[in-house]
Amino acid sequence: MAASNTPIRIGIVGVGKIVRDQHLPALAKDPAYRLVAAASRHGKVEDIPNYPSIDAMIDAVPELDAVSLCMPPQFRFEAAVKALQAGKHVFLEKPPGATVSEVELLSRLAASRGVSLFASWHSRYAPAVEAARTFLASTRIRSAAINWKEDVRRWHPNQEWIWQPGGFGVLDPGINALSIATHILPAVFATSATLDFPEGRHAPIAARIDFKTSDGIPVTADFDWRQTGPQSWDILAETDAGSMLLSGGGARLAIDGRVVHEEAEAEYPMLYRRFAEIVRAGVSDVDIAPLRHVADAFMIGRHNFVEPYHD
Ligand code: NAP
Repeated sequence: MAASNTPIRIGIVGVGKIVRDQHLPALAKDPAYRLVAAASRHGKVEDIPNYPSIDAMIDAVPELDAVSLCMPPQFRFEAAVKALQAGKHVFLEKPPGATVSEVELLSRLAASRGVSLFASWHSRYAPAVEAARTFLASTRIRSAAINWKEDVRRWHPNQEWIWQPGGFGVLDPGINALSIATHILPAVFATSATLDFPEGRHAPIAARIDFKTSDGIPVTADFDWRQTGPQSWDILAETDAGSMLLSGGGARLAIDGRVVHEEAEAEYPMLYRRFAEIVRAGVSDVDIAPLRHVADAFMIGRHNFVEPYHD
């Protein structure tokens, strides 16, 4: 393992939208890492060696300490097993897998190989999330509501995997809300769900999940990909200390309409800081709670069929 002052030599796998938007800029600015290779069937990263597969990259660059797996979740498990078996630390994009069981298997494999596995949840690192958690911990929550409504055509154009089994549809962005909710609210479980599937698609375009805590506090969640105009990434809570609104995907916190925390986001730099921390400490960070709630919604959800979706 790299000593704490030597950069972690990292390879990136699945070079697409999120790699270009977030991983490459975050890695470029972080002295804790040296990006030494990339593996992707079509995508390329400039100025470093590129390989067509993770196997080819691991064979050609044995000095790799870690890999970031950024392909869609349905295609990640085999790559993660290869990396862990080769003794590499693994950063998993969200969601960490297409099923709960595969992530648990990866977790056990990482432990048996003595390497770190990171199930990254970028939205948990949104700027106002910790302030919301502190506020909610200081008061009594009466109810909470998640409203996560965005325009799929704007954010996910031509992404076929997202409509396929294991792509989660609207619950791909929706799991970001659940990753925040599971961090700031008491533990909940789904009591009912409705999933709206466009004809001919294998993933929902909208979903409504009702949760409650063991004390019976209701938490509702509305996810919709048909929202044009202003987009909503909000979590609201009614509490004894006032109405809380965490908006902008966790960027802004207001209590009774007064903004108490707002800051520029730095989610991916913080994710990479956390990954370096767990690698140095020799531990893993794998919380499957958000993924388990999505699985539960698919288990108990009513399926509606709605009009076909076309890009
Ligand atoms: P993407 O651009 O559609 O896919 C990323 C790359 O994965 C593709 O460019 C492709 O590279 C590879 N890939 C696609 N299908 C594959 C397959 N069948 N087998 C192996 N590799 C395959 O997706 P993305 O938007 O970057 O999202 C990837 C992950 O990041 C998802 O889990 C998503 O939830 C998460 N994420 C996305 C965003 C966002 O804003 N887009 C934000 C946060 C997190 P090659 O063809 O070169 O192999």
